[in-house]
Amino acid sequence: MRLVLLGPPGAGKGTQANVLSQKYGLLHISTGDLLREAVKNKTPVGQEAKKFMDKGELVPDEIVTQMIIEKFKHSDISPGFILDGFPRTKRQAQILDQALAELNLPLDMVLYFETGEDTILKRLTGRRVCQNCGYNFHIVNIPPKNEGICDYCSGKLYHRQDDKEETIRNRIKVYNEQTRELIDYYQIKGLIKKASGDLEVEALFSILQKIFKETRLI
Ligand SMILES: [Zn+2]
Repeated sequence: MRLVLLGPPGAGKGTQANVLSQKYGLLHISTGDLLREAVKNKTPVGQEAKKFMDKGELVPDEIVTQMIIEKFKHSDISPGFILDGFPRTKRQAQILDQALAELNLPLDMVLYFETGEDTILKRLTGRRVCQNCGYNFHIVNIPPKNEGICDYCSGKLYHRQDDKEETIRNRIKVYNEQTRELIDYYQIKGLIKKASGDLEVEALFSILQKIFKETRLI
């Protein structure tokens, strides 16, 4: 199954993507990770992307899309994939659609996690991220065994600058403005399925499984 996950920051996209990819053997593509990986490995696309990052500019949509396609070519995606964090705009979705059409890998579904602002604030202000492996902990919901230290790789956990309350409110606003058109775009294509991002991990996951069954994806 080929999925895109949409939802504001803190909607639980990353967590669900992890659960889904484990359960169904899907390739989980987080464009942030992909970008960092390509730059670190100095791939041609990575070097191209770095030029923009060094100037403090956004990496163009075409380059991000190219990176995703590269990743597909070097991975087993026969069970499918999950895109998490991309596309974010209608334009990105159009570029992505075109690239996927060329590979004959059209999207099956776009899951949109509708999430209340209170939930988002509660989650994000408590979030701590491993600076080494990127795993997300939460001081209340998923506390690490030892404070400030990653359970998996012993890396140091940090509070992201953009996880502070006023920054979060602004990120939600920007996200909603940016994605309105994107959601309409997928809605017209009949790809959107909505689920509540306010739910806890397991409850949301069972809703998703129900959706997959209803639409015969599983
Ligand atoms: Zn770690």
